[in-house]
Amino acid sequence: MSGPNTNYDPVEVSALDPAAIEANVAEALAAIAAASSLEELKAVRLAHAAEKSPLALANREIGALPPSAKAEAGKRVGQARGQVNKALTERQGELEAERDERILVEEALDLTVAPGRRPIGRRHPLTLTAERMADVMVGMGWEIAEGPEVEAEWFNFDALNFDKDHPARQMQDTFFVEPADAGLVLRTHTSPVQARSLLERGAPLYVAVPGKTFRTDELDATHTPVFHQMEGIAIDEGLTMAHLKGTLDRLASELFGEGLTTRLRPAFFPFTEPSAEMDFVCFVCRGDDPGCRTCGGTGWIEWGGCGMVNQNVLRACGIDPERYQGFAFGMGIERSLMFRNSIADMREIIEGDVRFNTQFGMEI
Ligand SMILES: [Zn+2]
Repeated sequence: MSGPNTNYDPVEVSALDPAAIEANVAEALAAIAAASSLEELKAVRLAHAAEKSPLALANREIGALPPSAKAEAGKRVGQARGQVNKALTERQGELEAERDERILVEEALDLTVAPGRRPIGRRHPLTLTAERMADVMVGMGWEIAEGPEVEAEWFNFDALNFDKDHPARQMQDTFFVEPADAGLVLRTHTSPVQARSLLERGAPLYVAVPGKTFRTDELDATHTPVFHQMEGIAIDEGLTMAHLKGTLDRLASELFGEGLTTRLRPAFFPFTEPSAEMDFVCFVCRGDDPGCRTCGGTGWIEWGGCGMVNQNVLRACGIDPERYQGFAFGMGIERSLMFRNSIADMREIIEGDVRFNTQFGMEI
């Protein structure tokens, strides 16, 4: 701003020159008319009507004029600013109306379109299978027991009558926990819980043990280093293999279909004597289709191992084998799930693809 100008000469104060003001107004009106959006109009407002616009600067020059000149200059500048502000307000109104019109079209809701649904989570089918198997056992009056996954070698092998040089103790089958002399392994089966249950609860005893087990297998379509088993052990007076067979028949029926029976084939396990491999009747062909792909035409599906609890195991756990007998069995939960839901590749179970859970994780 200039200092007091006592010798006013309008020609020297160029900002107040009528032609300059007229040019400013014309320029502002042209810019306002050309603004095609509210953002552009905002920029025009800043340039032509804000504090540093030519008309605002001209207005500030008025203060420096002698009183005689102020009125005329003030009127001229005031009219010019009024004209610009009026044009701004009108254009603002037009552009806002255009915007509202556009939003109404762009953001219109089509109420006939089906809403997007949030997918519902599913529990892992392996968990559901383990729970279903445990439920069958509970339904027969059994209890559920658990044990540690990092297990003492004694519980995993010695208490179960494994010889010191039994091949299962070798590094190629078993994960040993460091240090090597700690006597700890990742349990290779759920059977150590047999010994733990016998020691903790004594006889009579009916417990089922669903749980995680570990072996040094490579992951492929039928093997995984971390898998799940359900173990069952019953100890009581007068138990025979007929009780074992009846229990397995019931479990097979509940899981795979009414009327499915099991069969036992001679086998050897250190912790049972006699021991058997158990199969159940193919739930697809029931033994009637030599071309059946599920059982390979044999009519039977391998399920797990079982037998009468070895007397050495009973003795190791302080149970009198003259008074009590019992049976035990164990089957893979992955394998049961694969058969039940026709899953060909075990890797699908553990890869965590949510579509797999969605497909199999809903139980009715
Ligand atoms: Zn079959």
